[in-house]
Amino acid sequence: MDELYPWQAELWQQLSGRQEHAHAYLLHGPQGIGKLALAQRLMAFLLCKAPAQGPCGQCKSCLLLAAGSHPDNFILQPEEADKAILVDQVRRLVDFVSQTAQLGGRKVVLIEPVESMNLNAANALLKSLEEPSGNTVLLLVSHQPSRLLPTIRSRCVQQPCPLPSPAQAAQWLAATLPEVGDEARADLLALANGSPLAARVLHSQDALAQRAAVVEGVKRLLKQQQSPTQLAESWNGVPLIWLFDWFCDWSQRLLRYQLTQDEDGLGLSDMRKVLQYLAQKSPTGKIVAAQDWLLQHRQKVLSKANLNRVLLLETLLVSWLALPGQG
Ligand SMILES: [Zn+2]
Repeated sequence: MDELYPWQAELWQQLSGRQEHAHAYLLHGPQGIGKLALAQRLMAFLLCKAPAQGPCGQCKSCLLLAAGSHPDNFILQPEEADKAILVDQVRRLVDFVSQTAQLGGRKVVLIEPVESMNLNAANALLKSLEEPSGNTVLLLVSHQPSRLLPTIRSRCVQQPCPLPSPAQAAQWLAATLPEVGDEARADLLALANGSPLAARVLHSQDALAQRAAVVEGVKRLLKQQQSPTQLAESWNGVPLIWLFDWFCDWSQRLLRYQLTQDEDGLGLSDMRKVLQYLAQKSPTGKIVAAQDWLLQHRQKVLSKANLNRVLLLETLLVSWLALPGQG
């Protein structure tokens, strides 16, 4: 059974209490708040033969769904993570929508994330949205609804998905990772921008230990105990996007601290002293230039451009080493 997160309870009551369902829902909200789990639960609920507060978990439909062999559901995701949903995939979906339900109930389509459709794929989907066929419900999940064609957005019932409050996020993470200390859990949540689900993933990837090694490295760099090249090579196991996220975050905090002198804005305790030192010693122009470079290259990292990892990190570290001091 798909987990219903505590912050979704109220929305679930509304959704499961509806007498009639829309032809298409656009479930949207930031990444890492459990939208996919909600959509999967809604899919199971809409297909269930004996739904109550949720899907019953025991009927033929629920059992087929759990076994991954339900004939009346269609899940459309990129074939490779972070890649586009292709028009051929959408054509298979359009065929599915035009067929009759084999179990005699509803058919449910789930697309996640919708914005990963390229333009051809989106146009092909529009047909299915324009000409609802039989008893089909489309569940569109989007992290960035602003990136969708307006014609797609306007044909769906917009359903914002709730974010956990900081207290709910902390409580859920404490229940999920009881073996992790309070401080470490707070750090994980901060690194995950408040998303408890992303925090759990970061924990499974050992993010705090990797971060500690990176912070130690930055300190050695600034004390000139390690060269940019050595350091860049020693970070081989750290996901590049983490490094860019952290350095982007640090450069932004540096600039803010120079303006406000507010120590609360220095972020996680591990870098506070270093950031304070850098903010005092570095000309603003150099930090701005370093930040511009970071933002530009972060885009390239995100788009999976073919990058020379060590060279890229070396360039980054050389610029950070040169932050303190004039010229
Ligand atoms: Zn059922």
